[in-house]
Amino acid sequence: MSRFVQPVPPPIDPYAADGLLRSWLERHLGPAGHAAAKGRLADLAADVAGPLRAAHADAEAHPPTLVRYDPWGARVDRIDTSAGWQEQRAAAARHAVVALPYLPDARGTWGAAARVVQHALLHLYGPESATFSCPVAMADGAAALLSMPEVDNGVRDAWLPRLISTDPAVAITSGQWMTESQGGSDLGRSSTIGRPAVDGSWRLTGEKWFCSAADAAMAVALARPEGSGRGSRVLAPFLVPRYADDSPLAHGLAPGAPAPGVTVHRLKDKLGTRALPTAEIGLHDAYAVPLGDPAVPGLVRAMTLVVVTRVHNAAAAAGGMRRGLAYARAYADVRHVAGGALSSSPLHRATLGTLAVDAAGAFALAGHAFALLGRVEVGADPEAAAELRIVAPLAKLATGRLAVSSASEYVESFGGAGYVEDTGVPRLLRDAQVLPIWEGTTNVLSLDVLRALTREDAGSPLLARLAAAADLARPLSPVLADTLAGAAAQLGDTITSVTADPSSPTVLAGARGLALRLAYALTTALLVEHAAWGDEQAALAARLWARRWLRHEEIAEDAHHHLDLLF
Ligand SMILES: Cc1cc2nc3c(=O)[nH]c(=O)nc-3n(C[C@H](O)[C@H](O)[C@H](O)COP(=O)(O)OP(=O)(O)OC[C@H]3O[C@@H](n4cnc5c(N)ncnc54)[C@H](O)[C@@H]3O)c2cc1C
Repeated sequence: MSRFVQPVPPPIDPYAADGLLRSWLERHLGPAGHAAAKGRLADLAADVAGPLRAAHADAEAHPPTLVRYDPWGARVDRIDTSAGWQEQRAAAARHAVVALPYLPDARGTWGAAARVVQHALLHLYGPESATFSCPVAMADGAAALLSMPEVDNGVRDAWLPRLISTDPAVAITSGQWMTESQGGSDLGRSSTIGRPAVDGSWRLTGEKWFCSAADAAMAVALARPEGSGRGSRVLAPFLVPRYADDSPLAHGLAPGAPAPGVTVHRLKDKLGTRALPTAEIGLHDAYAVPLGDPAVPGLVRAMTLVVVTRVHNAAAAAGGMRRGLAYARAYADVRHVAGGALSSSPLHRATLGTLAVDAAGAFALAGHAFALLGRVEVGADPEAAAELRIVAPLAKLATGRLAVSSASEYVESFGGAGYVEDTGVPRLLRDAQVLPIWEGTTNVLSLDVLRALTREDAGSPLLARLAAAADLARPLSPVLADTLAGAAAQLGDTITSVTADPSSPTVLAGARGLALRLAYALTTALLVEHAAWGDEQAALAARLWARRWLRHEEIAEDAHHHLDLLF
């Protein structure tokens, strides 16, 4: 008897095969703008479906290692990474995954919507980048921070061009050293101290507990300027060169040696993101330059970076969901059960269709956050800024959770093969689990949403969007319009009552529930807006999303019938 070997589906073209991505770009960029982006997107998609798949697998199979000493006993703290990781690094630069929104040409062509194009690049690049999407996010956050007028011109000129270079030989990424062992979410407990030096630079001393992209050339570190007092507001962002090459204190040290005062204690042994070096780093009088005036409370400046990394996190979640769905769907076409293709099973189709609804919602949320970010950066649009204040945490927290639940289903949809490491499927789940943790857990972001609602009236732009979308939905589906209008009314009432007593235990205990309800209603509105523009897939996704997440109804029957349209 011959041994059965399961055929593996061929790789898909993630740009050509993603109808929602393409129509989203058509709407946000216009036909000419989308046409101008097509070459870039097709090139990246070809790399993702081709050489970057192998690079991804290589980086996953060969995690980074820390070499503490050279053969002669000198401390080197070198992080060795795989060829695949280096290939991902080069591809990120070449395809302008970080650089795009900063390139004058791109700003000229797409204006604020350069961020929409960047989101599309991330959507294609992220899922099989071996989580190089993480250094990409932090490099973008650092570039946004360095672009602020408060930052010294000399510092900006020295570092920003490297962060946004499209030349792999020049491009660098950045880490961000915020979390300390005693306080990740609770930044107020940070104990890293910054002291001014005579030459205008600073020296940082402290311990950083989670430092991803620990191989990057620089990091943005939070430190408490000496004498500035307690709490989190006074924490200031500093740029720390990671290597001797960029540290003026490194007299006679070899290129590639760690900058004096920067010690890599160890690499974390993590559940996922295994190709990504995440280190514990000690700072002892490490050279640093301030990003903005350290005498001015700096957490607000650091939030520029954090908003960028949060929206990247949402993009990573949505991109991963779409890729997992594409693989699960392709597998269902080649896997046979009960006498037919798995993809013809009504039950399996319903499972995939439901996942497709979630993937569409996550994509719209992430896409909207990037569109707002672009409008804030180009033209300083105050309405976009007010909305982004609440959309960034909402998009991050809702997509992070969806990414984990979806990844679990994608793994299950491969049956036993989904649990076998070298199929590449298990990492979908392992890597998804970081998304609700770093850059703010669900609870921490929910409290941030509560603060935005109660202190900054951030509910107003959101409720206005929901009301407008309810009107747009009426010609598409009166039930959908009523659902959205009803959700908006209920949320309006809740916001009024939480604003009256924001620190009551009842309000605090309900913060996560409120944030998720806001995110689900916002997602419905975003899908409705896209549907009203003329996208049939979004119209169906909006109806099913609203039934699933606002009315808590079973959507299996529709998901099964309409899988092809949802896909
Ligand atoms: C793979 C990975 C990479 C990372 N990379 C980086 C990096 O590059 N740079 C960096 O600075 N950090 C990084 N982190 C750290 C990450 O940002 C923190 O772990 C995260 O912010 C949570 O902080 P914590 O670990 O101190 O957890 P804690 O804050 O102790 O949280 C523990 C639990 O308490 C809950 N909680 C906390 N505060 C509250 C509250 N006020 N109310 C209700 N519940 C609360 C949280 O939701 C969580 O469930 C990384 C983490 C991971 C897993």
